[in-house]
Amino acid sequence: MLSQNHTPSQKIEHPLFQDNGVELWVKRLDLISEDASGNKFFKLKYNLEEAKRQGYSQILTFGGAYSNHIFATAKACEKEGLSSIGIIRGEETLPLNPTLSQAKEFGMKLCYVDRESYRKKTEPSFLEKLKKQWGESYMIPEGGTNSLAIQGTKDILSKEDKSFDNLATSIGTGGTFTGLALSKNPNQTLLGFSSLKGDFIHREIDQVFNSIRETRPEKTIILDQFHFGGYGKIKPELIDFIHEIYQKYQLPLDPIYTGKALLGLFKLCQDGYFEAGKRILFIHTGGLQGNAGFSQRMGIKLPLSE
Ligand SMILES: *Cc1c(COP(=O)(O)O)cnc(C)c1O
Repeated sequence: MLSQNHTPSQKIEHPLFQDNGVELWVKRLDLISEDASGNKFFKLKYNLEEAKRQGYSQILTFGGAYSNHIFATAKACEKEGLSSIGIIRGEETLPLNPTLSQAKEFGMKLCYVDRESYRKKTEPSFLEKLKKQWGESYMIPEGGTNSLAIQGTKDILSKEDKSFDNLATSIGTGGTFTGLALSKNPNQTLLGFSSLKGDFIHREIDQVFNSIRETRPEKTIILDQFHFGGYGKIKPELIDFIHEIYQKYQLPLDPIYTGKALLGLFKLCQDGYFEAGKRILFIHTGGLQGNAGFSQRMGIKLPLSE
C-alpha cells in the first residue's frame, strides 16, 4: 500500500484574517508522500490495492499533458510495481514537458489521442480498442474520481481536523469535495472552490454523490465565482497572490487549483464571510508538479515543490 507521512498543518498569520478574528490553517497534503502527493495520493491508494486484488498488473488512465493525475498515477504505479498506460489528450509535443517526461521516467507508456477521439474515451467501442492495443488493464477515469477514490479522500481528515469550523478545498471533478463532505463533522461547513468556469459544477457534483448512492450532506457549499478566467487560465492578481504567499509563509501554491481556492478564501474573508472566532482549515491538495511546466509554457516564474 502507498505509504504516508504525517501531514503537517501550518498556521497562516495574515493581517486580513487576524483583523477579522479568524484563524486560518493550511493542511499540507502537498507534503504527504514520496509516492504520490496531494489529494491524488488518497484517490489512488484504494484503487491500486483493488487492482492488485483483482489480479491486474497494469493501470490505464486518461489526462491532459500537464495532468497531476497522470503524474501521480505514473509515480504511484512505479512504487507499487504496476505498469501504467497514460492516454494523453492531444498530439505529442517534443521535447516532452516536465509532467510527461517525469511520467515516462516512472515507466508510464504514453499514448496520444486526438481531441475528438479523446472525447469518446468512456464509450465502449473506444475502450474495446484500447484493450486490443494495450491488453487487460484496471481503468481509472480522467481526474481519478470513482467510488474507491472517494473512499480514499474520506481518509484525509484527522480527528483534530474535525474540530475546525470550516474546511476549504479546491474542486476539479469533485471527488475530493465529496470525500470530505462525507467524512466531516456534521456541524463543520465545507467550502469547495471550483477551478472551472460555469455553474454546471453544481450538477456534476450532485452526479458524483448519486453515483455512489449518497446524498449530499448539509453545510457543503460550492463556490463557482473564483475560477479567474476558467480552467488553466490565470489573472495577474492570482500570480501576485501566489508569490506573496510563498514569500511570506513559504507556502507554495499552484495556479490551477490551490492558488485559486486560497485566493477565493481570502476574498470571502475580505467580504466579512467569516464570523470572528471561527477556525478555518484549508486543504492544500498539492499539484505543485505542474508548476514547472506551467512556468515554461507561460514564461512566468512560480514556486516549485519542496
Ligand atoms: C486533481 C486536483 C484537484 C481536484 O480534485 P477533484 O477530486 O478532481 O475535485 C484539486 N487540487 C489539485 C492540486 C489537484 O491536483
